[in-house]
This record gives sequence, structure tokens and C-alpha cells, in this order.
Amino acid sequence: MKVMVAGAGIGGLCLAHGLLRAGVDVRVYERERSAHSRYQGFRVGLNEHGLAALHECLPQRLHDLLAAVTGPMAGERRVLDRQLHEIRRLGPVDGGTATDRHVLRQLLLTGLSGRVEFGKAVTGYTERADGTVEARFGDGTTATGDLLVGADGIGSVIRRQLLPEAEVVTLPGNAVLGRTPLTERFAALVPGFGTIVHGPGIIMLLGRMEFRRPPRLAAAELAPDVLLPDTDNYLRWVVMLPVPHSREPDGWPAVRDQLLALLDDWHPDLLDLVRQADVVNSSPLTVRCAKPVPHWGGTRRVTLLGDAIHPMPPSGGQGANTALRDAALLSRSLAAVQRDEAELPAAVAQYELRMLDYGFTAVTESLQHLPDFTPHASDSR
Ligand SMILES: Cc1cc2nc3c(=O)[nH]c(=O)nc-3n(C[C@H](O)[C@H](O)[C@H](O)COP(=O)(O)OP(=O)(O)OC[C@H]3O[C@@H](n4cnc5c(N)ncnc54)[C@H](O)[C@@H]3O)c2cc1C
Repeated sequence: MKVMVAGAGIGGLCLAHGLLRAGVDVRVYERERSAHSRYQGFRVGLNEHGLAALHECLPQRLHDLLAAVTGPMAGERRVLDRQLHEIRRLGPVDGGTATDRHVLRQLLLTGLSGRVEFGKAVTGYTERADGTVEARFGDGTTATGDLLVGADGIGSVIRRQLLPEAEVVTLPGNAVLGRTPLTERFAALVPGFGTIVHGPGIIMLLGRMEFRRPPRLAAAELAPDVLLPDTDNYLRWVVMLPVPHSREPDGWPAVRDQLLALLDDWHPDLLDLVRQADVVNSSPLTVRCAKPVPHWGGTRRVTLLGDAIHPMPPSGGQGANTALRDAALLSRSLAAVQRDEAELPAAVAQYELRMLDYGFTAVTESLQHLPDFTPHASDSR
């Protein structure tokens, strides 16, 4: 059996590992020119589903390295005003384990050499009468397999062809996402799980990404064939704005300056946090989510996973975890086909029914959490 995966994101790469473990011939096609082409590095909180999926799909020898490049995400959640006076405490939580998306993606690319092709944008597909599927690429080439998995993220080309009626909506308000190297001064802003700063009509969310061991060093010690980026600890911050933030053609410096003007009377530590943000890994963020879709029925050679089918706002911390959960579930379903214990169309349909159920539950839960992060003009604490 040959499986083609469109998209080498978190979900697509995890699926590739799961399929390789099951002895399935898998190829991943990624539209970016290389693994380092684009801004990728924000903190992702892994919950029990995400961690279980990674342990199930990744080879055993990478498990210790995975643990080394994660960090704690637990403790008190403080709410402060814009001069950093404490307003209240929300109580301690254990939010799972933190990792960096870019580091995780690099780890997931390990052991897939010859299986992942960069610079291959999937543009569409054709299901053939002989039961195979042909994927078409932007460079004019094609590839054929038994199944095509759209793991091509929120703007999925595969979803648009398979489910043209499926809707992805942009939510009101806007956010700016930043990442600033973690100094002692900035670490003091987040002594626990996270800090929420309330200003008039604006909310700033702060969280630490503190690796148990520096990723490159951990790889050199635990799995010398793996090359991980030299990523330092950082403080991840998100500023939620009540109105759309203009998308400046001049890039981060213009966005940063606009933001600094809005935060004019905020505490100097918070202003310096914004000033010292890493240019490559800071950007405006549009929050989008999918409307639920019913199962599309029929027996097809094309399916979807992760943000390609159920994108959700980051407020629930579930997007990557759900993509990983999909990858593990689909790997398990296809492993049964590989062992001749199931038929491909039935195995795929079973995966889809379960994935749509928990995937859209996660979308609903993430939307329920969204008001916690939405600033109100009347809120002038
Ligand atoms: C600021 C922020 C914080 C977040 N925090 C969390 C968190 O704490 N916990 C959590 O669980 N989730 C979090 N998420 C969500 C999470 O990052 C996503 O849900 C997750 O990355 C989805 O994985 P994916 O593999 O489905 O898609 P993606 O990671 O988007 O990967 C899709 C891949 O497909 C490629 N691609 C796109 N089109 C094509 C094409 N036509 N052909 C070939 N390749 C293509 C893309 O280049 C990309 O590499 C956060 C998101 C943001 C923005």
C-alpha cells in the first residue's frame, strides 16, 4: 500500500512515522522549499492525546530526546493590570508539557529522509477508476498512490476539492504573537503556568518556553544523528486586540511600532518585551476556525487530518494535539489494512467518523474558551 501525504506539518510528519512503523510505503509532499523556509516557532502545549500519539508513532529511540526538548507548563495563573499589579489568581493548573513547534517539526523530520519532498505544492487530485488516486503538483508533476491524505493545514487544497462546501471562518478581533528571549527580568513576569495582563480593551497573555535541555545539545547527547535547531528559551506572548490589526507590508518592525503605540502607558518591562521580540518569530495572527461538517460518505481514496479539516482557535490549546491524535488513529487504521485485517475504504471511513467527532468537539471547546481571551473596550483595569 502506498500512502501520499500532502503537508509536512506536525500532523503529516507524525502520520508518516506511524505508517513507516506499520511497514506502509509513505511519501510526504511539502510546498515549502525547505524545513526552515517560514516562521514556525511558537510554543505548543502537548496534552495527553498529543504525547500519547507521539509516543505511539515516533521510533522508541527518539522518546528520550522528545522528553528532553519539552518543558514544564504548570503552576499558578496570575492576572495583572498593565502596571503589573496583581488583580487576582485563577488557581494552579497542570497544562501538559510545552514544546516549540519548529523544534518538534525538526525532530519529526528525523528518519524520514527520502520520504519527504520539499518544494512540492499539491494543487489537486484525481480519483481513478482502478482505485488509485493521482496527486498533482504545482511544478507540473504527478504521483500516484492508494490513498491521499490532506494534512495541508488551514488553507487545505485537498479539503477545498473534497468538501467545497466546508467553511472556515475568520473570528472578530485580532492578535499579535511574539517571542522574546527569556532573561531573568522577563522570566519574573511568569512565575507559574502563565500570566494574563489586562489593559483597556487589550489583553496580553504570557507563557514560558523553557526547554529541559537546549535542543541542539540534547540531540548531540541522546541521538547524534538528529540535528535540532539551536533554539534558546523564550517568553511567548500574545496580545489580543479588539479590532483588526492592519497588516503592514513593511513586516514586523511596523507591526511592533503600532503595537507599542497602543501599549503606550504599559509597564516598561512589557514594552521592552515587545521591543526585544525576535523578528523572525513574531507576527500578526488571524484567528480562524472551521464550521462542523458531517461525514461525506462514500468510499474515497482521499481523506483529511489536522487543521485541514478541523482548524480551531489556539484558545483551547488543542489544534496540534488533535492533529497528532488524528495521525495516530489513522496510522492504526491503515496498519490493519497493511496486515490484511481490514479493507482500505472501510478503515478510512471508520477513522473519519471518529476524527470528526472528537475533532469538532475540540473546535467547540476552543470556541468556548475564546471569550477568556477577548478584550472588551469597557475593561479598563
Ligand atoms: C500561536 C499559536 C499557538 C498555538 N498553540 C497551540 C497549543 O498550545 N496546543 C495545540 O495543540 N495547538 C496549538 N496551536 C495550533 C497548532 O499549531 C495547529 O493546530 C497545528 O500546527 C496543526 O497541524 P497540521 O499538521 O494539521 O497543520 P500545519 O502545522 O499547518 O501543517 C500543514 C503543512 O502543510 C503544508 N502545506 C500547505 N498547503 C500545502 C500544499 N498545497 N501542498 C503541500 N503542502 C502544503 C504547510 O506548508 C505546512 O507545512 C497553536 C497555533 C498558533 C497559531
